[in-house]
Parts: sequence; C-alpha cells; structure tokens
Amino acid sequence: MKDLSKNYINGQWQDWAGETIDVHEAATGDVIARVPASGRGEMEQAIAAASAAFESWSESTLEKRLHVLEQLHAGLKERAPEIAETVCREVGMPIKLATGIQAGLPATITKSYLKLLPEFPFSEQVGNSEVQYTPVGVVGCITPWNYPLHQVILKVVPALAAGCTVVLKPSEIAPQSAYILADILDKTDLPKGVFNLVCGEGQTVGDTLIKHPGVNMVSFTGSTRTGSLIAHAAADDFKRFALEMGGKSASVILADADLAKAVKGTVNNCLLNSGQTCTALTRMLVPAEKHDEACELAAAAVAKMTPGNPLEETTRLGPLASAQQRDKVIDYIKLGIEEGATLVAGGPESPEGCAHGYFVKATVFGNVKPDSRIAQEEIFGPVLCVIPYEDETEAIEIANGTAYGLSGAVWSGDDAHAKKVASKLRTGQVFVNGGDFNPLAPFGGFGHSGIGREFGKWGLKEFLEVRSLQL
Ligand code: NAD
Repeated sequence: MKDLSKNYINGQWQDWAGETIDVHEAATGDVIARVPASGRGEMEQAIAAASAAFESWSESTLEKRLHVLEQLHAGLKERAPEIAETVCREVGMPIKLATGIQAGLPATITKSYLKLLPEFPFSEQVGNSEVQYTPVGVVGCITPWNYPLHQVILKVVPALAAGCTVVLKPSEIAPQSAYILADILDKTDLPKGVFNLVCGEGQTVGDTLIKHPGVNMVSFTGSTRTGSLIAHAAADDFKRFALEMGGKSASVILADADLAKAVKGTVNNCLLNSGQTCTALTRMLVPAEKHDEACELAAAAVAKMTPGNPLEETTRLGPLASAQQRDKVIDYIKLGIEEGATLVAGGPESPEGCAHGYFVKATVFGNVKPDSRIAQEEIFGPVLCVIPYEDETEAIEIANGTAYGLSGAVWSGDDAHAKKVASKLRTGQVFVNGGDFNPLAPFGGFGHSGIGREFGKWGLKEFLEVRSLQL
C-alpha cells in the first residue's frame, strides 16, 4: 500500500499526520493507497504560496515556461507505464486503453502546448489600441476521478503556460497520478510556489479553494451539482470560473447510415472506461423501423465486452471506480426496467466471475422513452439507451432534449447530410461519421455541461485576462 500522506506546498513535500482517505483498487476493492484528508489550513498555505509566486511567474519569459513544460513532457513520457498502471488500478480502465489514453493523452496535451505557446499572440494591434493577454492570477484547479491525470493536465499545463500559478485539488477517489505529476514538476526548474497540490475532501479543502479571496479563478471538471456550487461561490467575489461537467450525449443514426458501423462506433464509445466518460454517447437514436435491428447489433457488440481484470492486456471492459459508483449504476439499471424500457443485454446482477471489485454488466435498453429518467440523467456507467424516432426533425428534437450538451455523433451515408444535422445539435462537439478526436479543437459544453472551453488555444485563453492600451 502506498503511503501518500503529504501535500506539495511552496516547492516542498509537507508530511500530513492527520486523518487520511483510503484509495481502493477498482477490480478488488482492496485499499492500495492513503492520501491526506487535509484541513483548510493546508489549503490556505498553498494559496498563500501561489499568491506569493504569481508576480515573478507571470513575468517569466516564454522560453522559461517552455523549458519547464519540456521537462514536464519528458517526465510524463518516462513515467507513462507507471501512470497507466496507477490509473488502471484506481479507475478500472483496461491497461491497454489506460496506456494509450490515461498516460498517453497527458503527454500529447502537454506537447500540443509546447507547439502552440510560441505561436500564440499575447498582444495584438487593433486600430490605435494594443490588446494584451495577461495571466488571470492564482488558479484553483478541481478535478474528478474518471480521467484523473488528463483532466489535471488540461488545466495545469495551459495555466502555467499562461503565466498563472496553481493550486490543485485532485479527486480523492483517484489522486495518485496527481502525486506523480507533482513529483515530476518538483524535479523541473519550476520556481517554488508556482504549482501546489493539496489533497482532501471537496467539502473542506475544495470549499476553501473556491471561496478564498486569494484565488482569482476556479477551473473545475466534475459533476453538474458541484459545478453549480462553484458558480454560486464564485459569484460572491466575482471570481472567474470555467466548468466542465456532465453529459448525456446522443448518437444520431440517420436512415441512410451504415447501421452496423454506426452501432459499433456508438457502443465502443459508450462503453469506453466502463461508461465513466463525460462525453459518452449514451443515447443511440435510430429510425423506428431499424430499432430492433439496431438493438440486435448492440447486443452482439456488448457480448464481446466481457468484464475482466483490467490489468490483463486482452480485457476490454473493466470495473467502475468505486463501490458508490457501481451501486448508483445498478440502481439506474433497475430504474430502467421499472420505467418499462426493454432490457436487451446485461442487467443489474453482478457479472459472472466478478464477485470482488466494482463490476457491472454492460447493459443495453431498447424502446427507451426520451423523457424517461434513464434517458435524461447521467448514469456514468456501461449503459446504452436505444431511442427510436420517426423522422429527422424528431431525432434532432430528442438529441437536444436534455439539460446537457457536451458531445454527440451523427452517422449518415452522405457526409454533407451528416454535417447539416450535426450543425443543429446544441452541444460542444459532434463526431461526424466517426471523425477522429482532435486535441487542438475546443472542448466544452452547452447548458448544464459547462461554461468555457479546454484544449488548444481556447484552453489557454481561459487563463488570460484581456487589457487594451489606447495609444
Ligand atoms: P464531483 O463533482 O463529485 O467531484 C469533482 C471534484 O470536485 C472532486 O475533486 C471533489 O472532491 C470536488 N468537490 C466535491 N464537492 C465539492 C465542493 N463542495 N466544493 C469544492 N469541490 C468539491 O464529480 P466526480 O464524481 O468526481 O466526477 C464525475 C463527474 O465529472 C461526472 O458528472 C462527469 O460527467 C464529470 N466530468 C466532466 C468532464 C468534462 O470535461 N465535461 C470530464 C470528466 C468528468
């Protein structure tokens, strides 16, 4: 078991002798690490350190920032196998996927900022004015557990690149990769106080971070419920905030689409990380006359997704990250049955051979009513809702008919047709006929899915204030 009873404050590891939080292995339920349940005092110290470091870091040269980010990138590459295994154990994502995504994406994102930063116009001329982009100040970063290092990197790297100083409060459910990050940064030439890590519960250290007057901006990824608390807290002293929250994304399969390809693409996306993905395509909209065939194809696709040990190279579906998440997902599966949806595959029972750990069967519901709770609420598990529609107008109405708007997909035999429908979706990103993920494209949500954008130049701009000099 790893003893991580420490916080990283002002360039030093500070031992913590108070209460700790257990971190569990998703596949067994065993305790694999302990982290501090830090108090408000530790968070206040970290904010003070970040405030003290701000002036100097905000005036640092681009060369200096690039140098530190290069060191960070090298560290992430070097420690990729350790990061992949750590997240695989904590979150349950199969090791092969965790290597590519949980460990690979943080390095890719860091590299993208190494390229982008020298090209970014930190000042521009508009008529007789010089418009300057200047770092927003001390940034509080609060992150969830499903892609724990990726979500941290999406905030910390552009914030540091912009010249901001950072206090990170990672998820207490999957905190270990943040410790690896702090260890890598500790070995770089980053000045003390520029990056700080404090681990603990949201209601204590998270609460201090979002309400502290020394914090200029809160960048949050997590549930819509916590995002709303943050927006309210930020309003009191007009803190800036960026929120990346939940989703209930629709995969719209049009009548002229290759049904088998579209269903396969949707199922794979929905089940990625056992459905613990904010952008998961959890509602599959199909023409009513193709509903039964689509359900059969979906059932055949999930039959190949037998849950298993995520540390094995061949496993495609791992457990969920916590007992609480497993129980929540099972309750939603029971609710779907009560609501009258057709259980096409899976169900609420534990999968065979998975007596320990937080496993749930990959589940498909057919004939789901668009306004039912399983079609409206984020389940965050391996559950797909198949929803029949009569015509394209209705499909778009159903796709846009939730409080969320994070992601989506459109499938058609004709790219122009797919793009036309995609442009009508009230959502931050749409995958058109299986288009590739692009780490330079903006990422974020409409409505209850969020405010603000991450990735690429949009992610950098979040951490910059605008000043204009009239000359
Ligand atoms: P969560 O909101 O419970 O927790 C997220 C973070 O907020 C944790 O670090 C937690 O400790 C902290 N927190 C909790 N209460 C707090 C409070 N009162 N004050 C300050 N901080 C507090 O979310 P989660 O369960 O960890 O993550 C799952 C959610 O995250 C899902 O809804 C998912 O859709 C969302 N998510 C969104 C994106 C995105 O980019 N849009 C990405 C990943 C996950």
